[in-house]
Amino acid sequence: MYGAMKDELTALAASLRGQGLYKEERVLLGPQGGVIHARGIDGITREVINFCANNYLGLSNHPEIIRAARQAMDRYGFGYSSVRFICGTSELHKELEEEMSSFLGTEDTILYAAAFDANGGVFEPLLGEQDAIISDELNHASIIDGVRLCRARRYRYAHADTGDLETQLRKARSEGCRFCLIVTDGVFSMDGDIAPLPEIVELARRYDALVMVDDCHATGYLGKSGRGTAEYFGLEGEIDIITTTFGKALGGASGGCVSGHREIIEILRQRSRPYLFSNTLAPAIAGATLRAVRMVGENPQWCQRPLELARRFRTALTGAGLDLLPGETAIVPVMMYDEGRALALAEKLFEEGIYVIGFAHPVVPRGRARIRVQLSAAHREEQVDQASRAFIEMARKMKLV
Ligand SMILES: *Cc1c(COP(=O)(O)O)cnc(C)c1O
Repeated sequence: MYGAMKDELTALAASLRGQGLYKEERVLLGPQGGVIHARGIDGITREVINFCANNYLGLSNHPEIIRAARQAMDRYGFGYSSVRFICGTSELHKELEEEMSSFLGTEDTILYAAAFDANGGVFEPLLGEQDAIISDELNHASIIDGVRLCRARRYRYAHADTGDLETQLRKARSEGCRFCLIVTDGVFSMDGDIAPLPEIVELARRYDALVMVDDCHATGYLGKSGRGTAEYFGLEGEIDIITTTFGKALGGASGGCVSGHREIIEILRQRSRPYLFSNTLAPAIAGATLRAVRMVGENPQWCQRPLELARRFRTALTGAGLDLLPGETAIVPVMMYDEGRALALAEKLFEEGIYVIGFAHPVVPRGRARIRVQLSAAHREEQVDQASRAFIEMARKMKLV
């Protein structure tokens, strides 16, 4: 039987290669950080400054985080070998949930193995066929999948377009719905832009809807003390459901959570399938993430660092005439438009010791190819300057400016 499938898959892989859509994975020979050792596609290992990680606060390889992971492992062992409700809950898991609730200003929090699972498990227990979900068209894949798993009616609004959101809200209301939930990413990963949350919250009030924010690219560094998009806009306590990850700013291992009203979290513990049927977060991850959240809480100025470096990088590139999408987050998209150009420039920069990724269709729309640069507290100013110099020089050589 496999013969036919094998031919089909081989042809698919070849077609992806032919279209330049085949994803090669670079192999790192050491920890994640501002500087990494990475093996290129040519097999040569280089030391490169890394602008591709979601390591916004530089905690991925921070000694205090590693110590916390070790301590958790010494005390609670390596694995918990169970799901939460059987015998997979430790004090650490409870403490991390409390810490996240206090950090995010919510009533309660439930942990998942990943934010992907959090989004996969949050909709189905809360919403049924009488309900509606209104989702930004650029929301993360895990939201799209989570929404598919639930019976609520689906509405989509044009990216960050609150006019269209209002149209969809009216439509949902006129077609009749018991509960209506607006869902958006807090920070969008490809454009680095921030959801227009004040307008969204206002529309939610007017149309009697709930608001859910997926804050994976914001938790830990956006807002004056790193509490995310709600804090950035002064909307703490106004968001009904927040999902976020521990796999980005907060240490970057893995894991995620849903945080919000007590009753919502209570029902998720009873009904959410990825929570009920998947293993508990490993103690080392729970312990280290707990330390990471506390560190951010104790050092509220830390979160400003990636944003300062992003401004520095933006100023240099814009000054040289490069075309950036405007924004204020640590994600800086340098627009190339042409797909081949984006991939070629990224490859040249890698040879110069600057690791960035070119993003092309289908990750971004056709003709909107770009190089995405992510700044981190792990970077030094000289490294950011080295990157902007290399960027500008290569762009000149390629006659882009
Ligand atoms: C990264 C990301 C996720 C997935 O997070 P994991 O914890 O890695 O599963 C979900 N939503 C958004 C918006 C993300 O950026």
